Amino acid sequence: MTEETKTKKEKTWLTREKRPIVIAGPCSAETEDQVLDTAKRLFKTNKVDILRAGIWKPRTRPNSFEGVGVKGLPWLQKAKELTGMPVTVEVAKASHVDMCLEFGIDILWIGARTTVNPFAVQEIADALKGVNIPILVKNPINPDLSLWLGGIERLEKVGIKEIGGIHRGFSNLGEKFYRNRPQWQIPLEFKRIRQDLPMICDPSHICGRRDILQEVGQKAMDLDFDGLMIESHIDPDNAWSDAAQQITPEVLGEMITEMVLREDYEDIQPLQSKLEYLRQEINHVDDELINLLSNRMNIARQIGVYKKDNNMTILQQKRWNEIIEKSKKQAAESGLSQDFIIKFINAIHEESINQQENVFKSKQ
Ligand code: PEP
Ligand code: MN
Repeated sequence: MTEETKTKKEKTWLTREKRPIVIAGPCSAETEDQVLDTAKRLFKTNKVDILRAGIWKPRTRPNSFEGVGVKGLPWLQKAKELTGMPVTVEVAKASHVDMCLEFGIDILWIGARTTVNPFAVQEIADALKGVNIPILVKNPINPDLSLWLGGIERLEKVGIKEIGGIHRGFSNLGEKFYRNRPQWQIPLEFKRIRQDLPMICDPSHICGRRDILQEVGQKAMDLDFDGLMIESHIDPDNAWSDAAQQITPEVLGEMITEMVLREDYEDIQPLQSKLEYLRQEINHVDDELINLLSNRMNIARQIGVYKKDNNMTILQQKRWNEIIEKSKKQAAESGLSQDFIIKFINAIHEESINQQENVFKSKQ
């Protein structure tokens, strides 16, 4: 698909006035005290521009904490009165929009689980017709740039003027390092097509853990993102949602202080980031290969148990012939040499036999 690129970045509070724009606050508003304490301590760091809090939480499974709901909105109003920081809340449907507008929420954001659904985004857009409020749109859970851009276009069509993207990573089967793999190439392509829109990075939902937040945030800065959204809690370990990834306001303050802002990114980034991205992809594919091999060996051991219980031999010629024939066909279809495929399959098969022999050797 060829995209029309838009280059002019409007000067708004979301853009170059300050870099990075920092949005911080708890994953979820839990109690009034927790919201107010967090807000005060974040304000004290002097590094935070906007206070975030989840009021309605999209949870994967029922029976987990699904947010305090509308009763949390006055807490945010109070936090704003106390600190002067504008507040932002996630909306997933029209009724959320109505309640946020009623309680003077300054900025709305659309979460990853909502951006995937054009009906839901349209419902939100319709509720916003004629309203002048900034909206941030998180990327959809799946790595689909058009769906992300499409969500933004739905908002633009009803007249929303201030829109930004939030990159929060993409769900990926078998991913172990990140909670959501960053796949930086996708937000970079977004930034290339929509140079008029600010782009915020959400390291918290990319990482799912505290120890790599700094490096992911720094990476976003190196790639010329405009801001960061980071979850912060006064007692992270006891947070009611996303405990493993939250940090105290003070740690967040230090994190922002330590961010290095390079000014010459334009000269160095495009090539370097492409190579780095491809290397990262290779690393991830290798991780997946190892995971798959480990799953395969697990099945081989189960077969070993079956063979042992039924007095069967480990190496069965007919089965091996079948595997080799199938692999030769796959080699032709996948553009890999037969020689390589046979060597590869042989090595895997050898390890399977070893694993099954261990099962035979083991006592009951
Ligand atoms: C959140 O920001 O708390 C959240 C639910 O994020 P995401 O939509 O990125 O999962
Ligand atoms: Mn969260």
